[in-house]
Amino acid sequence: MKPPRPNSLVRRTAFPGGPSRPLVTPLQPSVVYASPDPDALDRQYEEGSGFTYAREGHPNAEVLAAKIDMLEGAEGGIVTGSGMAAIGAVFLGGLKSGDHVVGGDQLYGRTLRLMNEDLPRMGIATSLADPTDAEAVRAALRPETRMIVVEVISNPTIRVADMEGIAAVAREAGVLLVVDNTFTTPRLFRPFESGADIVIHSVTKLLAGHSDATLGYVAVRDPVLREAIMTANVTWGLTPSPFDCWLAERGLHSFDLRLDRAEANAAALAEALADLPGMARVIYPARPDHPDHNRAMALLGGRGGNMLSFEIAGGRAAANALTRAAPELAFAPTLGDVGTTLSHPASSSHRALTPAARETLGISEGFFRVSVGIEDPALLIAEFSRAVSAAGRN
Ligand SMILES: *Cc1c(COP(=O)(O)O)cnc(C)c1O
Repeated sequence: MKPPRPNSLVRRTAFPGGPSRPLVTPLQPSVVYASPDPDALDRQYEEGSGFTYAREGHPNAEVLAAKIDMLEGAEGGIVTGSGMAAIGAVFLGGLKSGDHVVGGDQLYGRTLRLMNEDLPRMGIATSLADPTDAEAVRAALRPETRMIVVEVISNPTIRVADMEGIAAVAREAGVLLVVDNTFTTPRLFRPFESGADIVIHSVTKLLAGHSDATLGYVAVRDPVLREAIMTANVTWGLTPSPFDCWLAERGLHSFDLRLDRAEANAAALAEALADLPGMARVIYPARPDHPDHNRAMALLGGRGGNMLSFEIAGGRAAANALTRAAPELAFAPTLGDVGTTLSHPASSSHRALTPAARETLGISEGFFRVSVGIEDPALLIAEFSRAVSAAGRN
């Protein structure tokens, strides 16, 4: 019998190839890449080509970035470990102590926390302004303002920002316009075509679409600023896992189809909900009674997206009855999944606010936000009808 060769199990063998190639993007989990010799490694660093260490970049992130770049009409997009990592990289790479940032007053909860608590701690001042009013955004500017940060559709009240007005304000003041395009997605709105300097995504949501990958994306118009944000991403360790990138790329194959179906469902559901007894209001941009309807239709190419909110009477007891009557409508604080999810801001994203502050925003105990999925629309409407009627009987 031949004795086994010492250590042979830890020596990696070459990956078998052949004239054919895999149809599916390979998953490359390698943390490190071996180079033939120091000269070759030197050339790699000089040219910034190839891969050395996964925190600095890896093939699955590059493949995913290129796909989102295509959707956004961007170049050199950067994939990050989460949507918050994308926002963090923009702030860490693009701001310094003494700068000032203006943000929308209904930004995503964690972004608001960065604005209200973490940036000030680092010597960066912040102000919030209503993004449906470009003059309010202009009034918040200071000589040291460096960035305006906005989301096109607000969470959870589904208001639509005056993007044209804000872009003009940013341009006149020479301030960077940063757009978080997570809710709208490039299928409804492409911020670079409307004057944005930086576009951010939580890829976790509609782009990846299956609630199994946590990722972000940032694209930057100015190459010098892009380099600074890229460096912050690598240095602060905000970079993504190859497996999540691989899942998200697979999710993107069906992005257009998923979004179109979810949007058609949302439009049908909005109409059905508005007709239900006990419904106080339905907020959906494509409905003529939406407060920003005309602006939304002009900005979003006549589309309403997959997000809607509604309000029922009856307070917390009715809200409990609604979620319990339809457990198949996942009551979960996320959005953009293939399946419909329901969130209740008063007990989740907006729980830290006083009831009075919530009331100012129009968020009562009967307020729900719906991320509409791609189910059979008749099924969805039946489930919601049952849930709302159970809430009414409460
Ligand atoms: C979810 C979300 C984020 C944060 O993204 P994560 O991937 O959860 O870190 C940022 N902005 C918006 C609008 C979001 O919905």
